[in-house]
Amino acid sequence: MTAARFAVRDPATDAIIDEVDACDDAAVDAAVAAAEAAGPGWRARPAPARGELVAAIARRMRADEARLGALITAEGGKPTAEAIGEVRYAASFFEWFAGEAPRIYGETIPAARADQQIVVERVPVGVCALITPWNFPAAMLARKLAPALAAGCTVVAKPSELTPLTTLALAALAEEVGVPRGVINVVTGQGPRVPTRLVADPRVRKVSFTGSTAVGRAVLTACAARGVRASVELGGNAPFVVLADADVERAVAAALVAKFRNAGQTCVAANRFVVEAAIAARFEAALVPRVAALTVGPGAQPGVDLGPLIDDRAVAKVRRLVEDALARGARLVHGAVPGASRFVAPIVLAEVTAEMAIWREEIFGPVVAIRAVADEAAAVAAANDTDAGLCAYVMTRDLGRARRVVRQLAVGMVGVNEGLISTAQAPFGGVKASGYGREGSRHGLDDYLDYQYVMTTALDTP
Ligand code: NAD
Repeated sequence: MTAARFAVRDPATDAIIDEVDACDDAAVDAAVAAAEAAGPGWRARPAPARGELVAAIARRMRADEARLGALITAEGGKPTAEAIGEVRYAASFFEWFAGEAPRIYGETIPAARADQQIVVERVPVGVCALITPWNFPAAMLARKLAPALAAGCTVVAKPSELTPLTTLALAALAEEVGVPRGVINVVTGQGPRVPTRLVADPRVRKVSFTGSTAVGRAVLTACAARGVRASVELGGNAPFVVLADADVERAVAAALVAKFRNAGQTCVAANRFVVEAAIAARFEAALVPRVAALTVGPGAQPGVDLGPLIDDRAVAKVRRLVEDALARGARLVHGAVPGASRFVAPIVLAEVTAEMAIWREEIFGPVVAIRAVADEAAAVAAANDTDAGLCAYVMTRDLGRARRVVRQLAVGMVGVNEGLISTAQAPFGGVKASGYGREGSRHGLDDYLDYQYVMTTALDTP
């Protein structure tokens, strides 16, 4: 029995909106035991039947998008329209993997002897631990849960302590549409205790983590210690490259989406604007009025473009990065150094250099940091000047040039003349310090499947 509870707060008001269990070790162990007990029944269910239930989750989510969206806004702060957009995006993963479930194909391989047959089946890995961040509480879970269920795995989900309510709501909704008890389990708690216990459990056969690079590395270390599979989707530091021949209006429209979705608190947020000098003044002049027109306020308020940052630590980080940049010579083009308020108005900085912390760290806030570069080669070098390798954006009218630049970028994903590239049918993931593994697309199933090869020798029957 878990007696302790902890509060979940609305980042806009700091008001307590709910309380959830602070799971103790016994509760974590019990969740893993439930997932393990439900495993044989779930994997024995034919894949098309599993797919039907996964599709039913999507239908229920879409029918319930207003309620789920309101929950995401309440605990995560993002504007209602974005929150409903996230519900739809999350539902699209259940739809995609519902379709993939009946297509989990094995193979036959020609054997060396006529009496032998080699068959390879794809089998579920078993109990999966799904650890998710706060910034997309529905979508980050959906990208893991939908393929895990389709593959025949049972799961224990561990949401961020800041946004556990959406995960609990999705788990309840899955049970309502008929996913058997024990297939989806949720453990909640503050700090590292609950996820550490979960990752260390020998019955957990796979860990899928999305979150910060530092915590992801700790998860990888723990998984390595017991030789268990792990995939990690970690932090980004995306360059947004504006080449001299770019369509300025298009570049600005893409920049607004890539930068300001969730008030800049996304792993694929445009973090470093790398702009060829020949177009820098025009880009800045077109961008600033659009940025100035963005409204900031409580996410539930109609018409708001940017909600609050998630907590006071996030505000303090943005303040530190802006102050450091200004102290090192950046030019304040628009906005002001953030104060104590969670409602941080957009800021535009120019003349940013590689020595500034804002160039090195994920901003996770509404700051456009611009650095002008001499030419295409310098743009590529600047774009790659980071440990992260999640995604990049390239603005150019010349598709030959786009290909040449994209091939030189060390990232897992690129948007060419696009500011929003996340979609269920494409493989999402990074290289370098941004982790490995891919979520979404047909490749998104791979993390949840093993190969089982069977050689059968035919016996002569009389
Ligand atoms: P975080 O790393 O602080 O937390 C992520 C999850 O890990 C939470 O559920 C947290 O409770 C849990 N956790 C904490 N300590 C742990 C431990 N010792 N072992 C295992 N789990 C532990 O990240 P966050 O602040 O919630 O999310 C923001 C970060 O996530 C950013 O860096 C962002 O770029 C990244 N992110 C990446 C992607 C991607 O797909 N690459 C997507 C969204 C967010």
